[in-house]
Amino acid sequence: MTQLKNLDFLLQERYRTLRKAEMVAVLKIQDQLIHSIRKFLRKKGFVEILAPIIGPVTDPGIRGAKQVSFSYYGTEFKVMSSMILYKQMVVAAIPKVFSISPNIRLEPPETVDTKRHLTEFRQVDLEQAFSSYDNVMRLAEKMYCKVIEETKVKCRRELELLKRKIETPSRPFRRYSYKEAVEIVNSLGFDVKYGEELNWKAEEAISKIHREPFWIVDYPITARGFYYLEHPETPGILRDFDLLYPEGYGEAISGGERETRYLKVVERIKRGGEDPIKYGWYLKMLKNGIPPSAGFGIGVERLTRYVCGLENIWDAVPFPKVAGIASP
Ligand code: AMP
Ligand code: MG
Repeated sequence: MTQLKNLDFLLQERYRTLRKAEMVAVLKIQDQLIHSIRKFLRKKGFVEILAPIIGPVTDPGIRGAKQVSFSYYGTEFKVMSSMILYKQMVVAAIPKVFSISPNIRLEPPETVDTKRHLTEFRQVDLEQAFSSYDNVMRLAEKMYCKVIEETKVKCRRELELLKRKIETPSRPFRRYSYKEAVEIVNSLGFDVKYGEELNWKAEEAISKIHREPFWIVDYPITARGFYYLEHPETPGILRDFDLLYPEGYGEAISGGERETRYLKVVERIKRGGEDPIKYGWYLKMLKNGIPPSAGFGIGVERLTRYVCGLENIWDAVPFPKVAGIASP
């Protein structure tokens, strides 16, 4: 386990570490990454919208993390764990949208050890109406390569200071099915059962044996949120994906095509052990009809951690919030 006490102390004294040359370089690189992403997406016709921060419901598909609830004038409200449900609302009006969306997830304390989990983080979260998952994967590849290329040039000095060499990968990125990924991690000594998510260690291990980012596609329905669409010809398998960084940095992106049919979603919510009544406004919206869409979210701090070659994600954000530590 990471020396929690030491980490607690370091995070309490953020006003000191924030002034270090390495930290300043990281923040400048982060600024460039955000700038390049915005520029790329705008050029592709995406419109940036303001993300919601609170609401009656939020994304339930957050792998063991807890949502934050509070009373909003007597009604139970949530702090956004992701804006997925809202992205589906807005693509009915603007077919290509994105946000730099803040998310809160009370991750279990042991996630400190993964070095890639924060409890407050941001996603560049985008959605495109009438798009296939293949289409948004290609978009993600282009965006990723463009952003890396630009950042390498604009932040040459900062990357040198951090002693980080980073290559722009070739496209298309390698693709594994979820089934193949499970076989790979199990051949590395893990025991992931078909139908489960890859656990944190397994995700890190498969990431470590790669030199370039790669996709894992077509997760089983048991591993993911209710809003992903099933393959019509292979029920039980979703039209979704994760992008993983190489070198052991783990997951970069999750996304996929959306299930928009009211009755299907109600059934999936129930199967996930939740009461559909909680999703009032969302289900009403589906009944009313929304366009099919696909999209993804890329974690900004994880991207920064990878590009800067940082061991710990808490060095990839100015004011880190880590599970179990009450820091500024
Ligand atoms: P998810 O909806 O869990 O797939 O999250 C979407 C993206 O957000 C992931 O692919 C990560 O890049 C990022 N992310 C998710 N959870 C965290 C976390 N606890 N800390 C930092 N980044 C995260
Ligand atoms: Mg994910």
